[in-house]
Amino acid sequence: MRALIFDTKRYDRDTLTAANAGRHQLHFTEVMLNAETASLAKGYAAVSIFVNDHADARALEIMAEGGTALVTLRSTGFNNVDLAAAQRLNMTIMRVANYSPYSVAEHAVALLMTLNRRIHRAYNRTRENNFSLEGLQGHDIHGKTVGLIGTGRIGALFARIMAGFGATLLGYDVAPNPDCLALGMTYVPLDELLARSDVISLHVPLLPSTHHIINRDAVARMKRGVMLVNTSRGKLVDTEAVIDGLKSGQLGAVGLDVYEEEDGLFFRDRSDQILGDDEFARLVSFPNALVTGHQAFFTHEALNEIAATTIQNLTDFETGTDNANVLKPK
Ligand code: NAD
Repeated sequence: MRALIFDTKRYDRDTLTAANAGRHQLHFTEVMLNAETASLAKGYAAVSIFVNDHADARALEIMAEGGTALVTLRSTGFNNVDLAAAQRLNMTIMRVANYSPYSVAEHAVALLMTLNRRIHRAYNRTRENNFSLEGLQGHDIHGKTVGLIGTGRIGALFARIMAGFGATLLGYDVAPNPDCLALGMTYVPLDELLARSDVISLHVPLLPSTHHIINRDAVARMKRGVMLVNTSRGKLVDTEAVIDGLKSGQLGAVGLDVYEEEDGLFFRDRSDQILGDDEFARLVSFPNALVTGHQAFFTHEALNEIAATTIQNLTDFETGTDNANVLKPK
C-alpha cells in the first residue's frame, strides 16, 4: 500500500526501506504531522508518525478526507493521537507496542550512573588535564532505595538492573507486576515512594492521570537530595518545580531524556540558533542536571524492531489480519 512516512531522519529511511524489502510504496518526508501539514497525506492510504507529530482531531479529519485509513505510530507512547476522533472517523491507529524495552531501561541507568559518578564532569576535566576529584564524589547504589513510578515492560527491566546493583526496590503502579514482585519490589502508595526513595525513575505513560505526576507538591515530599530520572514523557514533570527543586537543593540530581516542551526543540541540530526556551536554558545550566534529546530508544536493535513492526502493521492492515498493535479509545 502507499504510505507517507512523516517526520523521518536518515536512520528511519534506512531501517524502514530495509524492512520493507519493496513490499509497500513508502514515501518519506521530514515534515512533521499537524493540522497544517495533514493535507500532504492526500491520496495515501496509510501514514506513519513519530512521538512529536500531532494526530489531533483536525489533522485526522483532514487525512480521512484525503483517503487515509491507517495511522501507524513508530513509538510505544500514543499520547499524541486523538483516539476518540480516529474511531469517529473510522480510522485505524496502530503503534509499536513492544520494541526493545532494554534500550530505554538501559538509558535510564546511563543517566543515573552518569549523574551519580559525575562522569559528564570527569569527561571534561581529564581532557583539560584537570585530575582533581573535588566535586566528583558519588554514592554506592548498593543499599540505596530506588523508587519506580510505573513498573510495566521498561520499569521491570530497570528494576532488574537496580536489583543487580543491590538496591531496595519500591514501586508505584495501578497494576503491580509479578516480575517486579519476584525481584523483591514492595508496592507502596505514591507519597510513601516519594518520601523513602534515594532515586526515583519514571516509567508510566503520559495520561491525564499522570500529567505532572511530579509537581511542586511531589518534589516537596521527596527526600532532600533525591535523584530524579525521567525517560518516559516530558509532561510527567512540571519543569518549573524541578528547576526550583534543583535551585534549593531539594533535588540532588535530575536526568531527563524527555522534556515538557521538547516538541519543536528536539530531534534537530539547532546549534546555530539562539535558544528561545529560557526554562530549558536554566535546566541545562545546572551541573547536576543532565538532558539527552529523547534518545533512550535509539539503539540498533530498537530501530530495526520499530521498522519491522511498522511494515508488519501496514501489511496486516492491508490484508485484514488481526494485529495486537491496534489502539482503541478507553
Ligand atoms: P507499559 O505499558 O509496559 O508500562 C506502563 C506501566 O504504567 C504499566 O504497568 C501501567 O499499569 C502503569 N500505569 C499506567 N497508568 C498509571 C497511573 N495512572 N499510575 C500508575 N501507574 C500507571 O509501558 P512501557 O513499555 O514500560 O513504556 C513506558 C513509557 O515509556 C511509554 O508510555 C513511553 O511514554 C515511554 N517511552 C519512552 C521512550 C524514549 O525513547 N524515551 C521510548 C519508549 C517508551
